[in-house]
Amino acid sequence: MTNNEGSATLVSLRSAYAGRVWTEPGEMAPFLSDWRGKWKGPALAVAQPANTDEVAQLLAWCHAHGVAVVPQGGNTGLSGGSVPEAGSVGRRLPLLLSLTRLNRVRHLDPLNNTLVVEAGATLQQVQDVAREAGLLFPLSLAAEGSCTIGGNLATNAGGVQVLRYGNARELCLGLEVVTPEGEVWNGLRTLRKDNTGYDLRDLYIGSEGTLGVITAAVLKLFPLPAAQVVALVAVQGPDAALQLLTLAQQRTGASLTAFELLSDTCMSLVLHHVPGTRRPLAEASPWYVLLEVSVHGDKEDAQIRAAQTMEDLLEAAMEQGVVTDAALSTTLAQFEALWALRENISEAQGAEGPTIKHDIALPISRVPEFIARTDAMVGAAFPQVRQVTFGHLGDGNLHYNASPAATGPLDAAAKAAFLALEGPLNRLVHDAVHALGGSISAEHGLGVLRRDESARYKAPVELRLMQRIKAALDPAGLMNPAKLLPETPLAHRP
Ligand code: FAD
Repeated sequence: MTNNEGSATLVSLRSAYAGRVWTEPGEMAPFLSDWRGKWKGPALAVAQPANTDEVAQLLAWCHAHGVAVVPQGGNTGLSGGSVPEAGSVGRRLPLLLSLTRLNRVRHLDPLNNTLVVEAGATLQQVQDVAREAGLLFPLSLAAEGSCTIGGNLATNAGGVQVLRYGNARELCLGLEVVTPEGEVWNGLRTLRKDNTGYDLRDLYIGSEGTLGVITAAVLKLFPLPAAQVVALVAVQGPDAALQLLTLAQQRTGASLTAFELLSDTCMSLVLHHVPGTRRPLAEASPWYVLLEVSVHGDKEDAQIRAAQTMEDLLEAAMEQGVVTDAALSTTLAQFEALWALRENISEAQGAEGPTIKHDIALPISRVPEFIARTDAMVGAAFPQVRQVTFGHLGDGNLHYNASPAATGPLDAAAKAAFLALEGPLNRLVHDAVHALGGSISAEHGLGVLRRDESARYKAPVELRLMQRIKAALDPAGLMNPAKLLPETPLAHRP
């Protein structure tokens, strides 16, 4: 598109969608950079439609004018998928489509345990609506105040309750989607069973805005637990943590709602950087597990039953020598204080200095082997690095992160030298993940961050099938270009 064509397109867009489209640099800026300022890119304009019809009109307009579309929810994604690509300068500029005004709750059916909401509703808004009806929407992550249901589904978000309730995909029964041509597909089915052909819903979930725009969803709700107890326990290592997981699953079944692993490095970072936190155990331990038990039924004795379930489990674990010490929550304040030790790790690591992150998944049984093997390789090859390992052990999902080995503030040169390790460290870690049958992106998606890296590990046939799906659902290639899949035609890749 030439400059003249570009400004003519802009004039036509402004006049067709006055009041819903922003074109001034100052107005657009907050939408064109991700929340960490890591990715930035230019756009033709920012549009904020307020309903599905407006999304459909905008997409039809983009299709007619050959303008690409970058869908954006809460802009909390961690892989750079929600903002235009920097390389779009000199190419066709995309329209940034912000869905945050599309945030109505359409229908709650307590007997069907379903909630129909628009894509721009925040996760917290949905949790609150469910709770007010005495029900639970169990997706839970630290960005829940800002991230949107559309973004959660487009990235197939995970979080801390996946062990019990599944990830975003498993919490969604139906979708409403606007196609790149501007057609509306109403797939808002509230059914638990529906075997009527290819599952389009599952194609759009996890597609990171590359196939169409999610405008509404049917979400599954669950009974609200009557009581919850959390425990922080000391374990000698990931092997012991895995033994505890097996024991906990055997003894507590579906009552086990979270099982998180963290190293003492993580604990120390939180204690150092997050005011008001304290280690609830007398002695430091090399590793810890934070586990949560939820019970249902009569509210009267629920707290006692939850505590009893946890105490019985930990007593058995201590007898078997799996756990060396434990602290249990008996009040809401203690419950929140124990969870804060886990939930503040990312923030504490950021406060410590630059970070290199890996969001990886492994077969749960192979997590201890992965940590032992990869820690040894990283230690040998990158002595400048300190491992900051934590994650959702119950899901086989680790945040296998790195900070500089040197503590204290770094000067610009030292910071740049550490960040220069990102490529080689990613390669070492991802090769180790791949060798154990794992995934290089467990819950954060590919976006631009892991797009090319993922293509490196996928079989050519899998990539070709994905490319064909993209070509079938977005033949003009207008939806979130250069995200998730490499742009190079796969037929020409070595
Ligand atoms: P955005 O960031 O706006 O977009 C993400 C992707 O989805 C982009 O590719 C975008 O194009 C696409 N998209 C957004 N909305 C739509 C739509 N309506 N239709 C089509 N495509 C769309 N993630 C986890 O999985 N687990 C965690 O525990 C977790 N913890 C986090 C903690 C913090 C502090 C932060 C900042 C992030 C965390 N995340 C986590 C990542 C992030 O919150 C999730 O990926 C979230 O699902 C993104 O939602 P969003 O609305 O912000 O989407």
